[in-house]
Parts: sequence; structure tokens; C-alpha cells
Amino acid sequence: MRFIVLGSGSAGNAAVVEAGGIRVLIDAGLSAKQLTDRMKASGIDPASLNAVLLTHEHGDHIRGLRVMMKNLPVPVYATPSTAMVVRGGGVDTASWKIFESGAQFSFNGLSVQSFAVPHDAVEPVGYVFRHEERAFGLLSDTGHVTKLIAERLRGVHALFVEANYDDALLEADTKRPWSTKQRISSRHGHLSNAQTAALVAELAPAGLRRVVLGHLSRDCNCPITAASAVRGALASVEIVCAEQDRTCGWWE
Ligand SMILES: [Zn+2]
Ligand SMILES: [Zn+2]
Repeated sequence: MRFIVLGSGSAGNAAVVEAGGIRVLIDAGLSAKQLTDRMKASGIDPASLNAVLLTHEHGDHIRGLRVMMKNLPVPVYATPSTAMVVRGGGVDTASWKIFESGAQFSFNGLSVQSFAVPHDAVEPVGYVFRHEERAFGLLSDTGHVTKLIAERLRGVHALFVEANYDDALLEADTKRPWSTKQRISSRHGHLSNAQTAALVAELAPAGLRRVVLGHLSRDCNCPITAASAVRGALASVEIVCAEQDRTCGWWE
């Protein structure tokens, strides 16, 4: 199994997971052109995708979906409320595959477990992908780590997880009004470096070896701050930061 982050940050998010000849795109928050260009540059023919999976309906996760789906006869998987909102926004696809939050489904040996996450969207989810004894977790926009999230992610070998902001940098930020800061740091907003560090520390003893930090705020975080906060005393875990303007390269 391998995965690649096509781009991550508040200007757009998308990643591809591949295993056993199956390829799925998770979120389509870059422009359709960027998605296509970055997939092609990474050796992925968009026509070879087996499915698109959505985490939630925010623009930075679906921005390129409407245009991309015009020429791509690929099913889009989403929770009922997410699909309803995205369809209402004018996205039409060859087929919608609606699944209940928490449901498990599979594509030829690549199994996907969805799980509910607390975020200010209608019905957001995270995913765990499993293929031949290997597991990869994807946890994007999330306000806090629930017991369920930690349980679902226990045992993953690799993890993409949001590390949105540094507490001190968010506090000191002068561009954002107080209400926006409140939303970001609320229990239905985004994960701070410290929250992500606590989750990684909890998952490390259960086999977590590689972590890609994503959705870093341009103003209220930086890759060095995020990586060092999460690395802490965890010499056993390899940590990199995904970037907004380029892919992170394939990770096996
Ligand atoms: Zn969001
Ligand atoms: Zn987001």
C-alpha cells in the first residue's frame, strides 16, 4: 500500500491511496487542473481512479470536484448529509455511493473503515485503509480526538493527520478576529500541534511508524514547529509535513 498527498492546507486538500491495483482519491479540494496535473506528475492517470472518497463538504476539500467529475465516470463515496450538501452545490457524478458514517466497505482487497469526527461540517468522517496486514489512517479536519477516533486509528502503521495550528501562534495572530480563532480552536474546529502530538504518542506503541502532518495553517503554524512538537520523544516515528503547493511524494 502507498499514498501520496497531492496538496494540503486551507487552500485545498487531496490525497491518493493505492493498494492491490486499486486507487482512490480522498477529497478533491485543489482545482481540477491542479488535481489532474499533480496526479499525472506522480504517475497517476486520473482515469485509473476507482473511486473518490469525501471527508466533508468544506470548499478546501471539494473545490475541484464538480469540474473533475464532468469527465470522470468514477463513483463518489460520501456520508448521506455530505452527499446532499455537495449535490446541492451543483456537483453531479456518474454515481454516488452513500455510506453511513462508521460503515466499512471494500474495493478488491482494499478495505475502508469510516469513522465519525467532530468538525463543523454536516457529517464529517475519517478513514482507515487496510490491505494485507497493512493499515493507513487519514484524519483531516477534526476539533478534538474522541475515544472513537483513537480506537479506530489504533494499529495503523502510517497516518495522515492534521496539525493545523500552534497554540501560541494562533493566540498571537492579528489577522484573524477573535470569533475565527474561537472556531478554529473549538471542539468542532481543527487540531493543534499539541493535540496531534498527543494522538501520535498514543498510537506509537501500537505500531505507528510514519506520520504525514497536513492542513498546516500558513499564518498560525510552520512545518518546523509542527514536526518538532509532534516528534517530541518519539524517535521511532518518521514525521514529515505535507505542503500546499506540491505533493509530498509517494509513501510506501
Ligand atoms: Zn473543514
Ligand atoms: Zn479543511
